[in-house]
Amino acid sequence: MNATEYEPVIGLEIHVQLKTRTKMFCGCELSFGEEPNVHTCPVCLGLPGTLPVLNARAVHFGLMIGLALGCEIAGRSQFHRKNYFYPDLPKGYQISQYDVPLCTGGHLGDVRIHRVHLEEDAAKLVHASASGRIHGAERSAVDFNRGGTPLVEIVTEPDVHSAEEARDWLGLLRSTLRVLGVSDVNMDEGSLRCDANVSVRPAGSSGLGTKTELKNMNSFRFLAQGINAEVERQVGLLRAGEQVVQETLHFDPRSGLLTALRSKEEAHDYRYFPEPDLVPLVATPEMVEAARAALPELPAARAQRFERELGLPADRAHELAFRTELADYFEQALAADGSDLDPIALANWIPPLIERIGSDTDPAQSLVSPASLAGLVKLVSARQVSTTAARDVLTRLVAEGGDPAAIVEQEGLGAISDADGGLAEIVAAALAADPDAADKVRAGNMKAIGPLVGYVMRETKGRADGGEVTRLIREQLGLG
Ligand code: ADP
Ligand code: ZN
Ligand code: MG
Repeated sequence: MNATEYEPVIGLEIHVQLKTRTKMFCGCELSFGEEPNVHTCPVCLGLPGTLPVLNARAVHFGLMIGLALGCEIAGRSQFHRKNYFYPDLPKGYQISQYDVPLCTGGHLGDVRIHRVHLEEDAAKLVHASASGRIHGAERSAVDFNRGGTPLVEIVTEPDVHSAEEARDWLGLLRSTLRVLGVSDVNMDEGSLRCDANVSVRPAGSSGLGTKTELKNMNSFRFLAQGINAEVERQVGLLRAGEQVVQETLHFDPRSGLLTALRSKEEAHDYRYFPEPDLVPLVATPEMVEAARAALPELPAARAQRFERELGLPADRAHELAFRTELADYFEQALAADGSDLDPIALANWIPPLIERIGSDTDPAQSLVSPASLAGLVKLVSARQVSTTAARDVLTRLVAEGGDPAAIVEQEGLGAISDADGGLAEIVAAALAADPDAADKVRAGNMKAIGPLVGYVMRETKGRADGGEVTRLIREQLGLG
């Protein structure tokens, strides 16, 4: 019997802390790791009789995000009270947007955006560890510094179909938000937080299965691991003839276990009602235009430009443009040696650079300046150094910095070509050393050329130009 194949269906809900100077509804400054409870006031402590005042800069950032994601902007949107009790929420409700959000629709890459709305962050519960007991007991404390921080919530349609796609898409969203300058978008520090809604369905069908919600995945890796674990769990249930229960889950990356936090709450549990202390938010054409004017080139557009104007293949263009620091480095290297550097050749040297400096490192922080990478690529293009030797030069540059041409000179890594006289003899020696391979190549079996080229590379310590070696082998075998 054929087991049914299942396909994952994933929708993401992302919370982004905005990098405004002050909080969403009061004049308290945002806090970055200060003493607890030093950035508070009667408004964000939820004292009775206080009134919220909306932060104009947060609205501006919200509009920029909405426009960057191609959303439709609501001329008039509304704040609601979302009522629930928790110690990190002193008012007993969160001010959020409900049925009339600031932005709707839009897309980023292949993923459609459902909505983008403004709200405020809750305070932070600090759970004392066994060693850090508070007043001798295991207790929790509340730090109200975070309470009232402006948030934008971005909700996607369920358009994501694998854990890896979710991770990559979140990377694109992060780059996009970063170039907008609206947030630090740091998952470790909680300025970027992601919940994943996960369901599975028989592959090829179009309905939606029952979903669960994985809360607050705090790294890209854990997001992917959590989704994979949950997809596996759901497929297991369905194969066993059981059903998925709609609930909210926590993924523990250390144990790989998923535990239920609570059964799914419904909108009516929150008793949403319009915030009576705030007038509806009217986004005037001037406000929208100001937000539009503030948009820089976005990663998706930059990838398109790399394809269109520089001729990079799509996946390389994405690889660079979706990580702004790589794209910046690449463009600086290109400009460092403007005249005749081939963008494709240069782009091909970024992955070997990343491999050597570590995939989390910004190349601008490495010892290899954009100009020296450009210089190295130029040496390769001019066939003054072989690709193999250039890789060694790059390793040296990463370790010590310096000038590629000088390293080539010092280490005697310059390419050996026929013109130097030496290469033709070494090729002849390779043919003599392996007459079997030579015969096969002569008979037209080009696959047999590998050992011959290998011989030459060993003899020249990788300094021979590969194209030139192939040409000489063919020439000496009378293949023209
Ligand atoms: P809820 O009412 O439970 O909050 P929403 O319709 O508001 O659900 O959707 C919340 C998120 O869950 C969105 O990102 C949406 O794309 C996603 N989602 C909705 N239904 C499914 C499903 N069956 N499988 C996966 N994701 C889903
Ligand atoms: Zn305050
Ligand atoms: Mg929802």
